[in-house]
Amino acid sequence: MNDKLKLETLLMHYGEEPSDFHGAVVPPIYQNSLFTFKDWDALDEAFDNRKDTYIYTRGKNPTVSVFEKKIAKVAGGEKAQLFPSGMAAISAAILHCINSGDHIITINNIYGPANNLLQSYLKPKFGIEITYISGTDLDEFEKAIKPNTSLIYLESPSSAIFSLQDIEGVAALANEKGIKTIIDNTWATPLFQSPLKMGIDLEVHSCSKYIGGHSDVVAGVVIGNDVDIDEIFLNEYEWLGAKTAPFEAWLLIRSLRTLPLRMKQHQESGIAIANYLEMHDKVVHVNYPGLESFPQFELGRKQMKGTTGLISFRLQTDDLEKIKIFFNGLKIFRKGVSWGGHESLIYAPAISYLKELTEKQFVGMCISLADMRISVGLENADDLIADLEEAFKLI
Ligand SMILES: *Cc1c(COP(=O)(O)O)cnc(C)c1O
Repeated sequence: MNDKLKLETLLMHYGEEPSDFHGAVVPPIYQNSLFTFKDWDALDEAFDNRKDTYIYTRGKNPTVSVFEKKIAKVAGGEKAQLFPSGMAAISAAILHCINSGDHIITINNIYGPANNLLQSYLKPKFGIEITYISGTDLDEFEKAIKPNTSLIYLESPSSAIFSLQDIEGVAALANEKGIKTIIDNTWATPLFQSPLKMGIDLEVHSCSKYIGGHSDVVAGVVIGNDVDIDEIFLNEYEWLGAKTAPFEAWLLIRSLRTLPLRMKQHQESGIAIANYLEMHDKVVHVNYPGLESFPQFELGRKQMKGTTGLISFRLQTDDLEKIKIFFNGLKIFRKGVSWGGHESLIYAPAISYLKELTEKQFVGMCISLADMRISVGLENADDLIADLEEAFKLI
């Protein structure tokens, strides 16, 4: 297929050949554990090329491959490996880049479970050292580098406060020093940010968010060059056994087809709601890379092609009772974790962070009790604003 075609067209057709599937307009779900071969020699040959041959579904599966080809193409990578969750993708990518005793540099506001992997697992079990920085200044990265630094792990925009890192700058620094780089690109999606084209080695996504988009799949993906992804497939994917269900891949192929349309709408409604919140007298401030008041708005404009529907804001009150009244007063916004689906959601980081962190750590992460995170879904934005307005009237 002509790969000069535009993204929307590639997402529709790239990586699937209807003639391979009897002309079926949607690729089938290959729900089989193994593949059979004509004879001894055919099997023998298959083992010589395990990374590109369908032998057993813990390894390659044709439905999974269709998704991987599409997402790799859109992200500007050579190959992708799909995983059964974003965390499985993150742990595989990190394990690929480190040896015991190595040092990792990451940011203060890294996604909580990824931090648990580093702090509660890799550090005590494998002697991994970790340095946390704000990530907003390139010098911080340079100063944090040690002789045993093997990985810089980025998340831009980051969880909770959506702070950005200068992706091109960090990639150049890391490449010069022979340090591997991973970025969690879940917030921006491969449509709005292309870190591999900026020199990052591995891009990871939770496909449970915008990529899936329908709140019916948990999955994750690692995208990079042929060498890294083949190694991740042969080692972390097959050995750790984190096999992706063909049905999940099939749902994700469906999701990719509408990703550009959905992101356009999430962006449009996200901007409308962020503007509404910013003008509201019961809101102290709004964290959203799409607002001009965002401290790193210019960097965002330089390295991202769009903004999304994930917004956080701080209520003016710090009275927990009132905060709960506001939260519970929303009718269209549903209450729950995760984000990026068709439905609008609200979540307060305090609900989980207060259980895991001391108050001091909590403040150190720039999070307060009054912080709300909303995921603007695909409902009509005027209805969503009216819903917020009713809840504000209660406090
Ligand atoms: C949800 C999320 C993950 C983890 O993905 P799962 O699919 O839930 O395992 C990783 N990074 C970010 C930024 C996320 O929001």
